[in-house]
Order: sequence, then structure tokens, then C-alpha cells
Amino acid sequence: MSSTTTQQGPQETRVFNPPEAFVAQATVSGMDGYNALCAEAEADYEGFWARLANEHLSWQTPFTRTLNEDDAPFYKWFEGGKLNVSYNCLDRNLTNGNADKTAIIFEADDGKSVNVSYTELHEKVCKFANGLKSRGIKKGDRVIIYMSMSVEGVAAMQACARIGATHSVVFGGFSAKSLQERIIDAGAVAVITADEQLRGGKQLPLKAIVDEALALGGCDTIKDVIVYQRTGGNVGFTEGRDIWLHDLVADQSADCEPEWVDAEHPLFILYTSGSTGTPKGVQHSSGGYLLWAALTMKWSFDIKPGDVYWCTADIGWVTGHSYIAYGPTAVGATQVIFEGVPTYPNAGRFWDTVAKHKVSIFYTAPTAIRSLIKASDVDPKVHPKNYDLSSLRLLGTVGEPINPEAWMWYYTQVGGERCPIVDTFWQTETGGHMITPLPGVTPMVPGSCTLPLPGIMAAIVDEAGVDVPNGQGGILVVKRPWPSMIRTIWNNPDRFKTSYFPDELGGKMYLAGDGAIRNKDTGYFTITGRIDDVLNVSGHRMGTMEIESALVANPLVAEAAVVGRPDDTTGESICAFVVLKQARPTGDDAKKLALELRNWVGKEIGPIAKPKEIRFGDNLPKTRSGKIMRRLLRVLAKGETITQDVSTLENPAILEQLKEAS
Ligand code: ATP
Ligand code: MG
Repeated sequence: MSSTTTQQGPQETRVFNPPEAFVAQATVSGMDGYNALCAEAEADYEGFWARLANEHLSWQTPFTRTLNEDDAPFYKWFEGGKLNVSYNCLDRNLTNGNADKTAIIFEADDGKSVNVSYTELHEKVCKFANGLKSRGIKKGDRVIIYMSMSVEGVAAMQACARIGATHSVVFGGFSAKSLQERIIDAGAVAVITADEQLRGGKQLPLKAIVDEALALGGCDTIKDVIVYQRTGGNVGFTEGRDIWLHDLVADQSADCEPEWVDAEHPLFILYTSGSTGTPKGVQHSSGGYLLWAALTMKWSFDIKPGDVYWCTADIGWVTGHSYIAYGPTAVGATQVIFEGVPTYPNAGRFWDTVAKHKVSIFYTAPTAIRSLIKASDVDPKVHPKNYDLSSLRLLGTVGEPINPEAWMWYYTQVGGERCPIVDTFWQTETGGHMITPLPGVTPMVPGSCTLPLPGIMAAIVDEAGVDVPNGQGGILVVKRPWPSMIRTIWNNPDRFKTSYFPDELGGKMYLAGDGAIRNKDTGYFTITGRIDDVLNVSGHRMGTMEIESALVANPLVAEAAVVGRPDDTTGESICAFVVLKQARPTGDDAKKLALELRNWVGKEIGPIAKPKEIRFGDNLPKTRSGKIMRRLLRVLAKGETITQDVSTLENPAILEQLKEAS
């Protein structure tokens, strides 16, 4: 473990205050509102969380102990309490005036849409849950969900929650091998899938990949494969094991008494993206997890009864858990669920969909924003200015640090300078947002996730766990347990301890794995890159993010990733991988542009930050969730062959192109 980041910190000086009209109506309003909540948490940490858990969740049996730290870092929250997550997300909405409200607007790949009310969703989930029970699936069993974006995907998750089965959603883009590994690790009894998925006008297999995964062997625990018919494509069927979802639910009752589970009951296991190594099976609880999913909908997204909310993530990622399947339903929101891809039928699809459904809260990833900037540079017809985006009132981003220039584009071109942007820093392991501006509170600085949410004791420390002063980079930690935190790594409590609560930091501080720096004056947090991504050039420590953002600020550059490689004279030297908005240059053009960009970085940050080498590609290696895999670039920069886990890599072909100088 080594600390990351530059000593001088981000140079960003632009500040954008939340609009007054927004502040006036916000759930958490003004810095006073934020400070009051933080003070409450400081004064009585357990009392703070107990109050929120009682106010925001419905408990079948009230909890008797808020936090049990006896077996740290295996913390327990809300002991003695029993609840059901699906009851909280669905049944509650049948009696509070939301019964006829639209829960889901399903926007299909082909542009057709259907609305599903809370009453209809409840019925779907109850029948699904009864169907699962009819196959002998019960509390504590693990169920794999391998589906594309659909109402049925969310219903499958909620149905598992209803009967107390622990789900593990595997992103529908994963290969048979990745699926098999997750089935085995989770020891799952069933797979819920679809015949095929529709993406960008293409029919892509799902059921066939499940068959392939099971045929790879080792999956003997699987007794049932439940298949949702999406396209009607031809699929193989194994008698006795496979069943159509419509047959499974045909004769089921629309009532299903929820299984009341302990607050700590594992709601789901979800494997991380694999950006930094082999994915980890992150296990989450029921009570603490749901509390934070619901609360952050209100605090970070300021969700109100009239909002139309749209999170573009896939249910295969944690964002699709907390901010599609659970958070929005727990607060009775109307949300868009999108089946397709941002570039079909053209790269204006997001903006077109916002206009069509009058979306007011929009949440997406920096990688999507960067690619849509590039697309609207190439084809001005898909620029957001051609669409009516006046319904938007709040924007959000998640998944990677957002480069300040991408932030500015999002703020001005998409949000019309009237929408606060919540740059939400969090992780699969944290269950929900950790550090983010509050839209009616925090003056925003492009590229900074600003301040921790009330009750989240985030800090920056050095390698010995000692606080570093503002203005000096270090390791991001969370000093106290919080309700929605990871409980363990499935099947691997030792890896849980060493990965997140290392002895070097005293064994009780949560290690996020990211480097960060706080601004000297404001105390704002900026994520500077992964701990592994430290650059140390001639003794100067630098965050990858700062150099990448300087590159992206050049008008020619669409995306950039920076890694270090051993260097005889400087200890480490900087190698940058760059995607231009224009076609990939080669030969002399590449040399000329590389020189231009080196000088640009020298001017923006300083000569020490000049990349020694710049390689151009049509794209960068990314995880299937769209994150740049710098660990692979580090290998390429050294001129070595990749032997690491690439199971979550989206575009293996790009590695060949980036192997050597253009
Ligand atoms: P793995 O843990 O397997 O390497 P991963 O860390 O990419 O994969 P996720 O849990 O999906 O898996 O991603 C969490 C990480 O994403 C954070 O640790 C951080 O590096 C990055 N991240 C998420 N949101 C933000 C944000 N708003 N600003 C900066 N970084 C972010
Ligand atoms: Mg991670």
C-alpha cells in the first residue's frame, strides 16, 4: 500500500452555486441544513442512525441495538430488527397514495414504452415470488439473475428479496466462463434469465450462454433455470430444469406474504467491476443497505413525488441495485428503465428519451458523457441543444472521476446551467453514495465530489493511518462503520479483512482503495485515482486523474488514461493513452500530435507532468461497466504481455492496437 497523489492538488477554481430556486425547495436545504445533520451524527452516532432507520423504513419487529462492533470489522446494524425489503419497496406504496402511480416507465430498445404502476409491479413480484417458492427456492438460497434491463429483471430481484433468497445479478454482457465462475462462487440454486436481449437493434443471446456456462461444469447446485421470453428467439430447453417465466407464474396467487428477515440477512452478493483485480463477491445486508438506498434518493437526488427519475446504469452493477431496483421504489418514485444503448438509433438517444418522458433527474456515468461529447462533435445533429431538455432539474454522475471539462459540458449543454450536478463518489462495497455535493446545499467545483454525506466519516490518511492536512494527498478511508457498508466478501472473510480493514491502518478503518486530496480552503474531496495508480516521477507524487483531465481539456482529446512505468532516470515515467475526437493518427501525424499534447500538459500542470510517451487508440480498454482498466495499460506501457484477469474486459481487441507507439 502506498499513498497517492500530488502535493499541490487540483488547480480547479471554478465554483457554481446551486440555484436559489432549487435550494428553496430542497430536502436538505442550505449549508445550515447539512451542518445540522452532520452535527447530529457527531453528537450521537448511533442515535442518528436509529432515528433515520425508524423514520425511513418499516420494521416488522423493531431493532433493539443500533450498532454492534464486538466482532469488528464484521459490524452488525439494527440487531433484533426484522423487515422485508420488497415489503418496504412495494407494499408500502399500495397504502400511501402511490398505488396507481407509475413505478416504471420501460423504454424498450426499439423506442416503444410501457408504464407499470406500483399495484402492477407488486402483483408481478408476488406471483414471481410464489413461483420461486413453488420450485422449492427458499430463504438463504442464492439465485443468479442474468438478464438485460427489463421490468422482469427488477421484479426478479424484488421477488428474491420477498422470499429471503439472496440474489447475485450478473451483467448480461458477461461470458459463459464469467457466469460459471460466479454461479460456483455463490453456490446458487437457480438462474433467472431471458431467451435473448435486445440491444441496439440486435438480438443477443442470454439463455444460450447460461446453457454454455452450466455445461462448463461445476454448477451442480443449479436446479432451476427460469426463462423470461423477451424476443421469442429459438432457445434450447432442458426438461425438468428449465421453465418459462410465464408458465411459472401462470397459476400463482397475486398475494405473497413477505418473509421477515433479520436486518443483517444478506440481500445480495454482487461482484465488483474488476478494474483493479479479480472481482470480489461483495455481500450486502437488508436493513442497513435499504436505509441508505432510500435516504440517498432523498438527500442526494432530492427526489420528490412529481419527479421522473432516470438512472442509465445496468442492474448488473451496484448502481442498478441501489438506484434502480431498490432506492427509487423504496421512496415511491417514478423511474425510466432503459433497455437499449446510448448510441441507438443514434447518439441522441439519451436526450430524446429525456424529452419524451420529461425526465427531471438524470444519472449517468462519465464514460457515457465523454462518448456523447465526442459523438456530438462528429455529428452536430445529436448535440443536446437539439432536444427539449427543459424538464431536467438535477443531474448526477457516478463510476469514475469526471474530468472538469466533461463536467462543464454536462452542466452547460445538458443542464442548461440550471441543474445542480451531484458527482457521487461511492463503490459496490459502500452500498450507496458516500461523498457528493447535496444539490440544494453545496457550491460545486467541476471534478470534485466535494463533501461526505452526513454520518459518513470520510477522511484522508497516510500509510500509517494518520490524518494528513488539507492540501496534501493521501489514502481515502472511512473511520466509522455505516449502515450500508459491505458485510463480508462471500466465502472469503479473510480477503474482506485484508482488502478493506488492513492491519497497517489499525484494522478498523475502511480502506476505499482510492487516493484523494482535500482542498486547503474548502475541505472538498477530489478523487485522484486508485491507490495502485500512483505516479512517482523524480520523487514527485502525482494522481493519474490530474494529468488525464489536463489531456481531456485539450479540444482534440476525447479520452485519456495515464499510467506509470519504471524508468532508469526518473524512477517512473508517464505513459499516456489517448483517444482523439478525430480519427486515430499514425506515423508523422501521431508524432506531431504527441508533441503538441506533451507541451499542452506541460503548460497546464508543469513540465514534470509531461508524458514521456503518448499512444493513440480508437478506444481504451474498459470494463463492461465502462471504466478504464489502467492495470492492463500498465502492462502494455512496460511492453509486457497481459497475463492478468481480463474476464470483465469489454473490448479485448483494443489491447493489440495499444501495444506499441502509433
Ligand atoms: P474493482 O473493485 O473490482 O477493482 P471497481 O472498483 O471499478 O472494481 P466499483 O465498485 O464498480 O468497482 O467502482 C467503485 C470505484 O469507482 C471507486 O472506488 C472509484 O475508483 C470509482 N468511482 C465511482 N464513483 C466515482 C466518482 N464520483 N468520482 C471518482 N471516482 C469514482
Ligand atoms: Mg473497487
